Amino acid sequence: MDLGIRGKRALVCGASKGLGRGCAEALAGEGVHVTIVARTAEALEATAEDIRRRHGATVTAVACDITTPEGRALALAACPQPDIVVTNAGGPPPGDFRNWTRDDWIAAVDANMLTPIELIKATVDGMMDRGFGRIVNITSSSVKAPIDILGLSNGARSGLTGFVAGLARKTVARGVTINNLLPGQFDTDRLKKTMGAAATSSGKPLDEVMDARRKQIPAQRFGTAEEFGAVCAFLCSMQAGYMTGQNVLLDGGNYPGTY
Ligand code: NAD
Repeated sequence: MDLGIRGKRALVCGASKGLGRGCAEALAGEGVHVTIVARTAEALEATAEDIRRRHGATVTAVACDITTPEGRALALAACPQPDIVVTNAGGPPPGDFRNWTRDDWIAAVDANMLTPIELIKATVDGMMDRGFGRIVNITSSSVKAPIDILGLSNGARSGLTGFVAGLARKTVARGVTINNLLPGQFDTDRLKKTMGAAATSSGKPLDEVMDARRKQIPAQRFGTAEEFGAVCAFLCSMQAGYMTGQNVLLDGGNYPGTY
């Protein structure tokens, strides 16, 4: 299916690896010019080169911390009028809420709520003026079903979700959709880190914890970044223009609810 977005410009955050990279790859595969952002220049440039080689796409790499005003200014200078924005940054650390300070909460809210809101604020009016835009926020299944050791994520991402629910209804008549993509458990470095924390707290080997977790998922496996990217690209497609304000869960059937 031709997604109708060839030649559009996308800003994809947190994209040197993992889910952000999956989104950048899928968009590049559709002929989108992508600007990818991550903090480490070397890893990011290697990813950019790989995407150029595999998809023949135009890829611009911007090494910066997207959670800072300076980082966002650099990213937006490289991609000043994006048609597509994928917001993403590292998730907050796991732990017990009794140990989190106000600064820990501010860091989580900054990275996983205010950074996407700032990126939306900087780009959404231009998109509406041009009559087309797609914003996809990478959030988490923790928005629908909280994860006990990820209280910082449960809280901060729910704030973003509430904000998006309101704004998404105000932009769609001007061709701009805003949706959230909620990963369940995907095979990335982030997953290994959170599983590592679960292994440490339970005193079990990492392999055993990962295997047990895998078996709890109805799909009996973790998701891949390619699968995640493909759904992101669809949300960015022309065909998805009537879909806005949605929380799209990608979790191999793990969420147990009917709705
Ligand atoms: P990952 O650690 O594999 O990759 C994160 C990417 O973001 C890397 O490219 C990293 O360099 C970049 N990044 C991190 N902080 C950044 C910053 N401040 N500025 C710019 N770039 C930054 O993680 P992932 O598994 O791809 O997860 C992406 C997001 O999805 C995270 O917020 C994570 O918490 C969330 N999530 C992941 C899973 C999962 O199973 N993998 C599940 C639920 C939620």
